[in-house]
Amino acid sequence: MSESGFSYESMLEDAYSRLPAKPKSTGRFEVPRPKVEVAGKRTIILNFKQIAEAMNRGEGELANYLVRELGTAPSFEGDNLILQGRFNQQSIERAINVYIRDYVICPVCRRPDTVLVKEKRFLFLVCQACGARSSVRPY
Ligand SMILES: [Zn+2]
Repeated sequence: MSESGFSYESMLEDAYSRLPAKPKSTGRFEVPRPKVEVAGKRTIILNFKQIAEAMNRGEGELANYLVRELGTAPSFEGDNLILQGRFNQQSIERAINVYIRDYVICPVCRRPDTVLVKEKRFLFLVCQACGARSSVRPY
């Protein structure tokens, strides 16, 4: 091996040190747009699992809300949520956006790092970023 004048290790260190410093959390809150397919009398949300995960909600937790808003019954097939009836992209997106506004985003600090906590007949939005505990309408 010839002497090249620099070591591979120091090159690596140099490369890493030039990477921009990133904050630990991903920062941006991005919920994928629902992929909606109508099949006969059913509506399928193909990426439902990813949507629920992006907002840190259980699939059942989010589905319960949607079926109440849309007035239908749900079933699950893999990552998909199946709704009885025909619903267009717009109405599903609208319901998801209202859910995010009312049940995901902390009203105090506007961060999405929250969980829903049920206590008796009450529902609270508990923020893991600022610690706020906000009463929300149970669904
Ligand atoms: Zn907060």
